[in-house]
Amino acid sequence: MKRTYRCAILLAAAVLFGATAYAEKPKVVILATGGTIAGAALEPTDPGYKSGAVGVDVLIDAVPQLEEIADVSGEQIASIGSQDMNDEVWLKLAKRVNQLLASDDVDGIAITHGTDTLEETSYFLQLVTKSDKPVVMTGSMRPSTAMSADGPLNIYNCVAIAADPAARGRGVLVLIDDDIHSAHDVVKRHTTDVATFTSGEPGLVGVSLFGENTWYRAPAKVHTAKSEFSIAADQKVLPRVDIIYAHANMSPDLIAAAAKNGAKGIVIAGVGDGNMTAPALAEVGRVVEQGVVVVRSSRTNGGITRRNIEVNDDELGTVASMDLNPAKARVLLQLALLKTTDAKKIQDYFNRY
Ligand code: ASP
Repeated sequence: MKRTYRCAILLAAAVLFGATAYAEKPKVVILATGGTIAGAALEPTDPGYKSGAVGVDVLIDAVPQLEEIADVSGEQIASIGSQDMNDEVWLKLAKRVNQLLASDDVDGIAITHGTDTLEETSYFLQLVTKSDKPVVMTGSMRPSTAMSADGPLNIYNCVAIAADPAARGRGVLVLIDDDIHSAHDVVKRHTTDVATFTSGEPGLVGVSLFGENTWYRAPAKVHTAKSEFSIAADQKVLPRVDIIYAHANMSPDLIAAAAKNGAKGIVIAGVGDGNMTAPALAEVGRVVEQGVVVVRSSRTNGGITRRNIEVNDDELGTVASMDLNPAKARVLLQLALLKTTDAKKIQDYFNRY
């Protein structure tokens, strides 16, 4: 009798312990959008492949170890190569992220995405996510069927970060090849290298080694819960902003064409410190007069494009992109144009975000 009683207590304790352990696992939702990480090739050594060919369940099943670190569920938001990323998918993704994070049942979000435009989507989410909970993005450079595919470990580390309370309040993060980047700084720098991403001078936010995270810093710029930008429930598109690449002998024609075709904003990927030819600069002055907001950024992908260095922004009415590269400057300008067309106010956003 005594023994039965003891067994019953032990059994109850085991069930209770098991249940508690299960309940305590962080809840992470994986939102899949496609990309090479979900890509498939005919052969493991085939350099050619199709992006976004496999679904989120396949990605999750490929990493059974996820069960040990989080209570994971998956949703398919899109199945595209990120070269096809557009406002529609951004808005759908951002709305779903905010909806999920508002729930007590979600501790963090992991997003799989192609690497081509990962730096843009992550920065977009960094500006419109209304929560301090972790939002972590990842991708891969080799398709899921490749020899030494890099996707499974990236997904594992990505979920480990999304499940980590220490990731809270650090803005949207990008995990790739063990490195943790801030959405503000991360840039794709190589067409095929597995270690394709860099955060340049600002550096990494941390590193993740088989799910063990080490943290170096918190991003300095305004982001997520403190951001002034948001997406309305009925928002269907974002203002059109074009990027125009400067070069020797640059003509003014593309600047005029962008304005004529309905661009509300233009980002110049300028040479050096956001410069361009005199005829291009004169055309910038003309389109600014017509109400188009023009931001000068740099094609160098490093350093800061400040006001009034070789171009007189005060006279021309232009905005300097500060530390945002052209792709990220386009994202901030799209969101800024939802609020204002005043170049001074927009410059203030570029100084702070
Ligand atoms: N084109 C692919 C994409 O961005 C490349 C990748 O994911 O690595 O979807």
